Amino acid sequence: MDKLTIAITLIGVASFFLGGSLASFTVLCIDRMKFLSTDGWSLRTVALKPSFCESCGHSISPFFLVPVLGYLVSRAKCSHCGVRIPAKHFVIELLSGTAASSLALYLVYDQIKTFL
Ligand SMILES: [Zn+2]
Repeated sequence: MDKLTIAITLIGVASFFLGGSLASFTVLCIDRMKFLSTDGWSLRTVALKPSFCESCGHSISPFFLVPVLGYLVSRAKCSHCGVRIPAKHFVIELLSGTAASSLALYLVYDQIKTFL
């Protein structure tokens, strides 16, 4: 494998997970806005409270928070109570990761090609 292929693969994978993570975090914040009327919730807790299952309240392991892969490995279910995780999370992470990866490769491909 040549340097160009390795660089493109690394940039593509990194931007996929970065884009998927940012989109997932945005969806999480939007979903949590409904808790703002609940005692103990503020904009700070909406953004900073670690991820948890809304059905049983169990904290979600960081391993299951990896965009797309976490959804597939957990088989779309909470590892504690087994409640189904909505497919919107998978679709949003997949689409935004793909878009971020495509954009990153579009923007840097020529620079990498001339640099390497
Ligand atoms: Zn649960």
